[in-house]
This record gives sequence, C-alpha cells and structure tokens, in this order.
Amino acid sequence: MTIQNRNAGNQHEQYTPDFVDYWDDLVGWEGRTASEGGFYEKLLKEAGAREVVDVASGTGFNAINLARSGLVVTATDGSDNMIGKTRENAQQMGVRFAHTQAADWLNLPEELGEERFDALVCLGNSFTHIFDHEERRDILEAFYKVLRPGGVIIIDHRNYDSMLDHGYSSSHQHYYTGKGVDAYPGTLHRQLARFEYKFPDGAHFQLNMYPLRQDYVTHLLEDAGFRQVTRYGDFHRPYDRENVDFVQQVAVKPEA
Ligand code: SAM
Repeated sequence: MTIQNRNAGNQHEQYTPDFVDYWDDLVGWEGRTASEGGFYEKLLKEAGAREVVDVASGTGFNAINLARSGLVVTATDGSDNMIGKTRENAQQMGVRFAHTQAADWLNLPEELGEERFDALVCLGNSFTHIFDHEERRDILEAFYKVLRPGGVIIIDHRNYDSMLDHGYSSSHQHYYTGKGVDAYPGTLHRQLARFEYKFPDGAHFQLNMYPLRQDYVTHLLEDAGFRQVTRYGDFHRPYDRENVDFVQQVAVKPEA
C-alpha cells in the first residue's frame, strides 16, 4: 500500500486525519499506561504542580491521565486533527479539561498567556519534530514564558544517541504498545530519523523526526534559562544511557 502521508512536512502537518485515526492503535493505551506506571502524575504532584499544560496532547493520552489524577489540565496541539481526537477521547472517557486549543508551540504565550502554569509537558517524542536549532530555542523560550517561576518542564524524547551510535533496537514496550503495529526507522542518520508505521490492515504512514541527542536537549533547556535538569531513562534513574528507549528530561524555571 502507498504511504498515506508522504511529503506532508516535518511538524504537525504530518498528522493527517487518516493517520490520526490510526494513532491510538499504535499507542495501545492500556500497555502504555502500565509501562509509564503513573510516572508523570507522581512527579508533577511531588513538585507541587496543580495547573498543567500538555502542549503536544496528540490523541490525549497523557493529558487525560493527568486530568484523571486530579491535576487541572489544559491540552493543546499544533494539529487540529489531533486536538479534535483529544476532545473526542476525553468526552468518551468522561474527562474534563480546563481548556483545549489548537496551538503551535511558538504562539503559546500569546494564545495562553504568560506565567500561567505550574508545569508544561511535551511528551511522546514530540519536540523531535523541530529541525531548526534556532526554532528549537524560540520554542523553549515560549515554553519558559507560559510557566510560572518555580514551574516544571518535562520533555520526553527517543534515545537517539543509542540509535545513531549502535543502530535501532527497541523493545517496543514503552509507548507504541499497539498489537501488530510495526514502527521502525526506515531512514536514520545524523539529520533525519524517518519512522515508518505499518498497521495490520496494510495502512502505512511515516514521520520525519530530527534525532535529538540527550546532551543537546539538556543544553537547550539550560540555554533557555531552565535549571536543575534531571534525566530519567524509561522512567527510572539512574539509567543506562545506551540501553533505554526513551529519555525524560525534567527541569525547573527558577524563582524570580
Ligand atoms: N504526546 C502525544 C503522544 O505521546 O501520543 C503525541 C505525540 S506525536 C509523536 C507529536 C505531536 O506533536 C503531534 O500531535 C503533533 O501535532 C505535535 N506537534 C508537532 N509539531 C508541533 C508544533 N510545532 N506545535 C504544536 N504541536 C506540534
């Protein structure tokens, strides 16, 4: 079957309506919930957060779980298709958000206001969609602005270091737990990780991602003004940086 979202760009434009309809089959909500083990909910509550924005809500997986845990959640995503699916899933599951909105990361301070949230999460390997260094810096500046002083940011991304240095080998146990779905990088080099997603019925999509190295993301966070960057590997620390699938980077916006 032909690739259904070929040449759709690098960012949220890639999430075409048909791909969004398949996304939850890829995610496998039950497996992913078990694998995350309440990591984000626990971490945010321990940090004293109450109002949280999920800026890459996708179909709502993390935003819904955070809201279910009692946090006051705003869900945004650059893709109208994705935010539509977030709303649909939340309604079906009886979950209410403080606010939902389609919003590009660069526009968050204008769209949501400054110093609005105790925490901002950008999860599920979303930040990887930005290919330009200066744009990454601008986006982190926008993330910084919407957080209150003392607020927490969490960015979660694939372990591209291990993929680039040793080749791709994923246990597939953490995020993409959907049954019978094949997810692997068809192209992988320093400038591009193009993931292929093949579904049991033959549907085939792809996503262009920039292979972010762990130290580089830490540097970007510090460069934006965040402090106390703490890294986890597959939700644990300490971790073996060669042998985890995903890395969670947690940092704090200093008190004024
Ligand atoms: N967090 C969700 C999850 O884990 O299932 C979705 C992850 S998906 C890999 C990446 C998400 O980032 C997509 O929903 C996409 O629309 C969003 N995204 C990509 N570029 C964006 C941008 N510039 N502004 C806002 N959202 C963006």
